[in-house]
Amino acid sequence: MTTLYRPSAETVAAVTRADRPVCAFLHDLDGLRRQARALTAPLPPGTAFFYAVKANSDPRVLRALAPVVAGFEVASAGEVLRVREAAGPDIRIVMGGPARTEEDMRVVLAHGVERLHVESLHALHLANAAAARAGAVLPILLRVNLAGPVPGATLTMGGAATQFGIEEAAIPDAIAAARDCRALRLEGFHFHTVSNNRDAAGHAALCAAELALARSLAREHGVDLRIVNLGGGWGVDYADPGWRFDAAAFAAALAPHLAPDGPAVQFECGRIVAAYHAAYLCEVLDLKRTHGRAFALLRGGTHHFRLPSSWAHDHPFRILPREGWPHPWARPALTDARVTLAGELCTPKDVLARDVAVARIRVGDVVCFEMAGAYGWDISHHDFLRHAHPERLFLDRGEVIA
Ligand SMILES: *Cc1c(COP(=O)(O)O)cnc(C)c1O
Repeated sequence: MTTLYRPSAETVAAVTRADRPVCAFLHDLDGLRRQARALTAPLPPGTAFFYAVKANSDPRVLRALAPVVAGFEVASAGEVLRVREAAGPDIRIVMGGPARTEEDMRVVLAHGVERLHVESLHALHLANAAAARAGAVLPILLRVNLAGPVPGATLTMGGAATQFGIEEAAIPDAIAAARDCRALRLEGFHFHTVSNNRDAAGHAALCAAELALARSLAREHGVDLRIVNLGGGWGVDYADPGWRFDAAAFAAALAPHLAPDGPAVQFECGRIVAAYHAAYLCEVLDLKRTHGRAFALLRGGTHHFRLPSSWAHDHPFRILPREGWPHPWARPALTDARVTLAGELCTPKDVLARDVAVARIRVGDVVCFEMAGAYGWDISHHDFLRHAHPERLFLDRGEVIA
């Protein structure tokens, strides 16, 4: 079932504050759980699907997902603490990310992170020293930055000159260094090479190649290969909200590359889990025309929802009409027009969609941006200009929960 959260005008009116212009993120937690189940259901035995917390780390999102996913992938000590606070001491946590500190290592060990994905030799030594001090043996994976270029995704983390991972040619030295780290146990390799890959067959081929590389590195360098983490990166299409990454085809294409005796395969997806089941709602505060172009000024903007400006795309939206006009002057309106949906910030970059066609837009209507659940609020600069934050509302079985 293809699902996408599209709140009705009635729902918006029922749950948002009536005493001020509408500005809200509205999350559908039932839809979120359905989405996570739909992604995990086709995966073959021997795989585990983690949620990458950075896409949306709200505690209500984490609590909704905790029973559905294998665990959470985090990238900072702050995310470790957030997961523990929201979802308790038992949920599994794995941690990756560049730029590690001693404090990160302390938190990893103190809060039961089950495995660390190590991205440099220095980080390897930091982890070993911290684990030795704690009297622990910390399981690790080495994150590989592939030698070859990888086509087809929106963002590339590997197969290119980036700050991520240990480059493939340096992995043998890292394996040797890990062997000397008595407080670490090297269990395999980590890959998170691309983000937003919309080609399920291509992504399966990339994952199969990474799995083969992990096996050959393990064989050549004597690593007991228990786990290969193939990262996230399953794509969404903001230009086509009805399109879906074919998780079943991906799983079927990858399945022949798994073996009953391992290694176990892990995924850690963020965007595809969290994107679809939240909407960002902005009331139209004003309409104007300058230099021949029409603009709608919204209560909200990129300080709440930076995703469209960071990706330079027109974010998908619908207009929810609202009747009633309290003023004695004419209600500003545009019909069959092209309009730029701009936010309330004093910068021309505060645009959520540019020159998009609308049948009608009026001051007082609400623009509903869809697919707003991942990398939206979480990546935005909330306090620039000090406008009021949006309401952040989470519907669970039709009720707003705290
Ligand atoms: C961001 C990130 C993910 C999640 O990526 P998505 O594209 O949201 O699925 C997974 N692993 C690592 C290491 C990441 O940095």
